[in-house]
Amino acid sequence: MDTVQIVPLGGLGEVGKNMTVYECRGEAIVVDAGLAFPRDEHLGVDLVLPDFNYLREVQVLAIVLTHGHEDHVGALPYVLREIRVGQVLATRLTLGLVKSKLDEHGLMNATELREIDPNDAPLELGPFRLEFVRMAHSIPDNVAVVLETPGGRVLHTSDYKLDHTPVDGMRTDVGRLAELGNRGVDLLLGDSTNAERPGFTPSERVVGEAFRQIIPLRRGRVLVSSFASNVHRVQQAIDVAIQTGRKVAIVGRSMRKNVNIARSLGYMDVPDDVIVRPQDLEDVPPHEQLIVCTGSQGEPLSALTRIAYNDHPAVKVESGDTVIISAKPVPGNELRVHDAINRLSRNGAEVLHQEIAPVHVSGHACEEEIRTVIGLVRPKALMPVHGEFRMLAAHARLAREGGVPASSIVIVENGAVVELSRDGVRQTGQIDAGVTFVDGLSVGDLSDVALRDRRRLSEDGVLIIVATVNGDASSAMPELIARGFPESEPVLAETREEAARVLRELLDDDVVEMKLLQEHLHDAVGQLIYERTRRRPMILPVVVEV
Ligand SMILES: [Zn+2]
Ligand SMILES: [Zn+2]
Repeated sequence: MDTVQIVPLGGLGEVGKNMTVYECRGEAIVVDAGLAFPRDEHLGVDLVLPDFNYLREVQVLAIVLTHGHEDHVGALPYVLREIRVGQVLATRLTLGLVKSKLDEHGLMNATELREIDPNDAPLELGPFRLEFVRMAHSIPDNVAVVLETPGGRVLHTSDYKLDHTPVDGMRTDVGRLAELGNRGVDLLLGDSTNAERPGFTPSERVVGEAFRQIIPLRRGRVLVSSFASNVHRVQQAIDVAIQTGRKVAIVGRSMRKNVNIARSLGYMDVPDDVIVRPQDLEDVPPHEQLIVCTGSQGEPLSALTRIAYNDHPAVKVESGDTVIISAKPVPGNELRVHDAINRLSRNGAEVLHQEIAPVHVSGHACEEEIRTVIGLVRPKALMPVHGEFRMLAAHARLAREGGVPASSIVIVENGAVVELSRDGVRQTGQIDAGVTFVDGLSVGDLSDVALRDRRRLSEDGVLIIVATVNGDASSAMPELIARGFPESEPVLAETREEAARVLRELLDDDVVEMKLLQEHLHDAVGQLIYERTRRRPMILPVVVEV
């Protein structure tokens, strides 16, 4: 019987690193190749990628990128480095952003890059036929993917909201969604991010209105910090700057890059004479400045964080200035954002953020919008994607209430093998779908041990025991070196004696194997330290033979 296997490699049970494989007889279409930003427990890791080893076993006809957010495109360079990919399909802006990324990685020739448009005729690729539907989101040029497969018709929504008044006028194409519903959709993979939130997500225009209320009344500098990819947000801030006679400085590498790409492709309209270079701001009176910058997540090296720490070469804030943080902290970043707000406030700035002013709206559909899409599409089955488990479950509930039978809703985790056929949808297997870490220059599945060690080092420090064993099996008093571990003298003295005692015992028992000596020292000292201090520093026994 004709079937298609759907394997989500990322984005389920989490927010981030979205990647879904559609496979039919060894040929595959991949929708998105996203990354996740490391959480605090991934110490020292730069990026987290989906584990895409599964792609080694299939022929990847194409990777379709729904939109330019990092959680949908960020893993692409790492995938292209290891996997043969027939082509990468993306809309114009997404392709522009991706090209600049691939260029930085020296991968411009790794695959064919092909621009797609929602108005294109359906695209035949192996056993698949693809169409695209325009969906509104917090970055322009976002599309849903319709996959005609031997197992049935699938609609993969991408991230979306039903913004009826988007800044560029490019609404979610509800007409196409309804038409698809009439044709019959066998399976819907839908964005679950805001499925727990009642009501509707406000239009992006609401933020522009807030900017128009706030900025003209300000007497000092105005800084607006948002995601660099939120092209319309930045455009709306710049529009108000133009209306109020402020010059605009674009600060932060990713902000400059995205604004350049968006301007050159016609997604932003900013006259050259409005822009000032950050280093020329000192020639502009504060009340004629609008600074658009990165750092809305409190990222340590970002422009806003450096400004908050008085460490930015070109921008400072002082009493009378206003900082608008036009973003919501991604879970895990709250403390950093609060720290930035505190420091900016201490420097005298008034800081406006989403909790006290309507300066941010989500890019994801809330309950009523999800209900609307389910009502238009009338899917026979649902697989909620893009979200933590609770969000997937909330999406499933909305679908049940919308008439999708509970038996046709599959809530699965990353690595599930889900089969769609004329008989419906069901999970048939599970593959490994862990994570791949990018750590500095190396990519790989950095072992859990290394991460655990880093966590210990950061929390409890390190204790090095240097034991000297003489040729006649006698030993000197071991030396202890403690770092990052609040060593109290009595505990250290006791630890030294314990190490000496254990060593003496082992040598008396004729244990001379270096590895065993180290293991016993490690365990005995670790236990003592834990009993005395409730800490687990990393313990490194070094046994030296003389
Ligand atoms: Zn996303
Ligand atoms: Zn997105």
